[in-house]
Amino acid sequence: MSESALDLTLDGPALTARLVDFPSVSGDEKPLADAIEHALRALPHLTVDRYGNNVVARTNLGRSERVVLAGHIDTVPIADNVPSRLDENGVLWGCGTSDMKSGVAVQLRIAATVPEPNRDLTFVFYDNEEVAAHLNGLGHVADTHPDWLEGDFAVLLEPSDGQVEGGCQGTLRVHLRTTGERAHSARSWMGFNAVHAAGPILARLAAYEPRRPVIDGLRYHEGLNAVGIEGGVATNVIPDSCTVVINYRYAPDRTMAEAEAHVREVFADCDIAEFIVDDHTGGALPGLSHPAAAAFMEAVGGTAQPKFGWTDVSRFSALGVPAVNYGPGDALFAHRRDEHVAVDKITHCEERLRQWLTV
Ligand SMILES: [Zn+2]
Repeated sequence: MSESALDLTLDGPALTARLVDFPSVSGDEKPLADAIEHALRALPHLTVDRYGNNVVARTNLGRSERVVLAGHIDTVPIADNVPSRLDENGVLWGCGTSDMKSGVAVQLRIAATVPEPNRDLTFVFYDNEEVAAHLNGLGHVADTHPDWLEGDFAVLLEPSDGQVEGGCQGTLRVHLRTTGERAHSARSWMGFNAVHAAGPILARLAAYEPRRPVIDGLRYHEGLNAVGIEGGVATNVIPDSCTVVINYRYAPDRTMAEAEAHVREVFADCDIAEFIVDDHTGGALPGLSHPAAAAFMEAVGGTAQPKFGWTDVSRFSALGVPAVNYGPGDALFAHRRDEHVAVDKITHCEERLRQWLTV
């Protein structure tokens, strides 16, 4: 077997080690994407497509449900932690062991070893997850070939320590600007202080009671906070402008429009000159009530946890595909010099998925 080939008959932990030893820092995924494409094309039960360094493989068995297993193939920059190292306690160390080459290894193992799944399967391997959102390969596939991502339910094999993490919260960033009139601070009554005018905004934020809604059995926890404030011209000038930057993290039962309307309502009686939406990404519903998801929860066991941060599950959600994170890695060790994964977690994750997809 050549240096650049992937042997999908290796077991999950050995395949993870092989993937870690095949560097693919964001922007340099092509050799690994080539190897994955090559290995998948050798499997007669899969149809393989490629767009850039994104590889999508599918079964076409005419099953009543289709499940998507997705993972990014890039890693953060290597920190003297490649090649991988397996220690005597069954822990594999190295860049990407948790985030998320162990998950990619499980995807590849399922692709290679479950030729007749009980649900049709789509495997998505994408690039540039660890860098700016506009580079994200899953986003590019969603834009150019949304049909490749169709399904009833999606599992992202991101590090979740073997727990199911459902949905994710949305995030909205707004700049609220108050205005005043400049004056010399020695004659302040001649002006109007824009920083003082921001007072009611801060009072509203300090008194805000965030919602904690339960959706599909998961309890979310919202937050509305000032994350920055800027104002002032000089130490002897009454300022004529002040901007409070706020971030609203909201549960996925609110649409983007509803979230924005809510923030406008919170500050409705504050004297705001400008309300500027600086950044906004919607949340994703956990979708755990979908039959495919319910069967998944039964097979993998445990209790689902809500995801408070934003993840790629919301890209699937935007396409109408409920999605969860479920992978063998541990997010606490992602991006760290001492990144590692317990090999039994890899085996366990693969077994659980195989059970869900074959029984
Ligand atoms: Zn990741």
